[in-house]
Amino acid sequence: MRGLWLEGGRLTFRDDLPRPKPGPGEALLRVRLAGICATDLEMVKGYYPFTGVLGHEFVADVVSAPEAPAWEGRRVVGEINVTCGACAQCLAGRPTHCERRTVLGILGRDGVFAEYTTLPLANLHPAPAGVPDEVAVFTEPLAAALEVQQQVHIRPTDKVLVVGAGRLGQLVAWSLSLTGADVAAVVRHDRQVALLRPYRVTPLREQQVPRWSMDVVVEATGSPAGLALAKDAVHPRGVVVLKSTYAGQARVDLSRWVVDEVQMVGSRCGPFAPALRHWAATRLDPRPLIDAIYPLAEGVAAFAHAAQSGVFKVLLRP
Ligand SMILES: [Zn+2]
Ligand SMILES: [Zn+2]
Repeated sequence: MRGLWLEGGRLTFRDDLPRPKPGPGEALLRVRLAGICATDLEMVKGYYPFTGVLGHEFVADVVSAPEAPAWEGRRVVGEINVTCGACAQCLAGRPTHCERRTVLGILGRDGVFAEYTTLPLANLHPAPAGVPDEVAVFTEPLAAALEVQQQVHIRPTDKVLVVGAGRLGQLVAWSLSLTGADVAAVVRHDRQVALLRPYRVTPLREQQVPRWSMDVVVEATGSPAGLALAKDAVHPRGVVVLKSTYAGQARVDLSRWVVDEVQMVGSRCGPFAPALRHWAATRLDPRPLIDAIYPLAEGVAAFAHAAQSGVFKVLLRP
């Protein structure tokens, strides 16, 4: 089959990859549409050691599901952590923290930038009828955005700031606006402002952010400067949610966090079901984030496009 292969920090298009075979409890999926995200770009830079097919954001058709044929022919999205169900974290109800997990296109498991992929049936969610592929492909990042609300009680009276209005920051700000809270986002350019407008999220330039004013700040830049801005914006005893990973080691003046009694919450993968409900109810529409759709054979060019500054989402259509 055709796919994008990462090896030794080099991404190549190949047409000689073996079609994967579903293991016990798994389904074979034919990828309809896949999204390139910051994690994929970091992996090409060598941020994680990985050899194989990249990609974890997708919508696909179930080609075969030997143990549950009722799934065959269904259009699905899928959770990316494949868990053991038996370790202490799984048994304690924290499956995304499974000690023996593999992660689609990230850790120990080939991903979705290919014609076919496999996932356990337990990871699959039917894509609701009427939700286009171009929307459903954003389910994994919207679920990650919703994890903020899963972890932190957002009151409708809260003032909330999202630092960073890029790919993920937009989905975080839009979904937070649905809580009724007073949501603002730090912007750098006009397209970010336009994307926030339908959701009534207040755009703020960095120098306009009022100090010590926010109940909750979500840091979605992954940069030490973004983290410092988040700390300046949150009020004492407020909450800062870290929604991005930091390449290398970020320098932080932690004593201010202690003195001001600020809570720091790490945040990663989130719940798919509410993300799908938002799509089905058309409360959110991610399609304005799409900059381009490339065929797999032009995947290397698609990655170069996705890495340009100011680009939101580049999709691959196998
Ligand atoms: Zn991602
Ligand atoms: Zn486990």
